[in-house]
Amino acid sequence: MKDSEKISILQHLIQIESVNDHEEQVADYIAALFAPYGQQVQITKVPFAKGRVNLVVTMGNGNGTHLGFSGHMDVVDPGNVEKWEHAPFGGEVDEASNKLFGRGASDMKSGLAAAVIVMLELLESNTPVQGQIKLLATVGEETGEYGAHVLTQAGYADDLDGLIITEPHMDGIITSCKGVIDYQVTSVGVPAHSSRPDMGVNAIDNLIQFYLAVKQLMAQHQEENPKLGKMTHSIDIIEGGKQVNSVPDFAMLKGNIRSIPEYSNEQIFADIQAIVAKLNASDPQMKLAVKFIYPEVPIINGENQLTKLAQEISPKYFAKTLPVESSSGANDGSEFVQAQKDFPIILVGPGNNSSHGYDEYVDLDQYLTSIQYLADVAQQFVGIAKTAKVEA
Ligand SMILES: [Zn+2]
Repeated sequence: MKDSEKISILQHLIQIESVNDHEEQVADYIAALFAPYGQQVQITKVPFAKGRVNLVVTMGNGNGTHLGFSGHMDVVDPGNVEKWEHAPFGGEVDEASNKLFGRGASDMKSGLAAAVIVMLELLESNTPVQGQIKLLATVGEETGEYGAHVLTQAGYADDLDGLIITEPHMDGIITSCKGVIDYQVTSVGVPAHSSRPDMGVNAIDNLIQFYLAVKQLMAQHQEENPKLGKMTHSIDIIEGGKQVNSVPDFAMLKGNIRSIPEYSNEQIFADIQAIVAKLNASDPQMKLAVKFIYPEVPIINGENQLTKLAQEISPKYFAKTLPVESSSGANDGSEFVQAQKDFPIILVGPGNNSSHGYDEYVDLDQYLTSIQYLADVAQQFVGIAKTAKVEA
């Protein structure tokens, strides 16, 4: 495939405004790219909601090694459009800097396009695939990994021997990620005039008791993971009360935890629930409730063939051997890691720190090189090159 075509595919993807929705249009566009190879691929749409479908494209003969490629089709909101120099959904190319601009240029329509193009090029060149390559394109990654959850629950990842998530990261290969837990605690009180606080129940006072207890709990957990470091906890939203002459009858806080295997998500849920139960039991006027929002488990990969291969091949395409790295961010991998079978998950793909910002961009040289690199990793992992030689 010509470079101009590879760039045009990325432009098309960016021009579809899949801001936390409308992923079906992205899925349809990708499915249409594979349509000419209808005999050699299996295309499946896996719905999540109206207008929001995951896409699974499988190629190969099903024997041997199975490699997955995954990318999310949603993007975040462009924010204040006035602050963009390039139209957020234009996919404009600046020839001078060789950059392509637009929401998703980095996170992660370039990575999605790269995975799609690796597969298209194998089909185009009629390369026999002994194993299997499977594209898992997802919905709703940015707001809770819904799509990856649906695909994993439905068993689409159960046959994989390795998964490459082409999220924007080209300085290294991410093989471990912290888990994420967002939680919300609400406190319900009884309103009264502030001149007679004894007539009411102050929801803020009660919420503060939880605040202090959870801070104390989290401070006790200094376990350290050799790859991920320590768990972190931060209370980031607190609300309560409406006017200064009324005892507040409602207060709420939200906290964010980045978890490590040494202090598991299950244990964290249990410990926070225990605090709430204990406080509620301690005082009949205490009415606290906790809710966990889209928790994600940590990912840890030991030594494995996919990481080894991705590292070994890297100096051919980049100035150095890509180092193994870790991340404290959430991604679809936290869902796929819950598949029936254990397999390595790595994150590597085109993009940069402009993700989610104004004038998000991808460097086109990097984009095109990443396609060659990912193709090489894929071919060696599923053994295409070897098989082709044996058959010849
Ligand atoms: Zn992303």
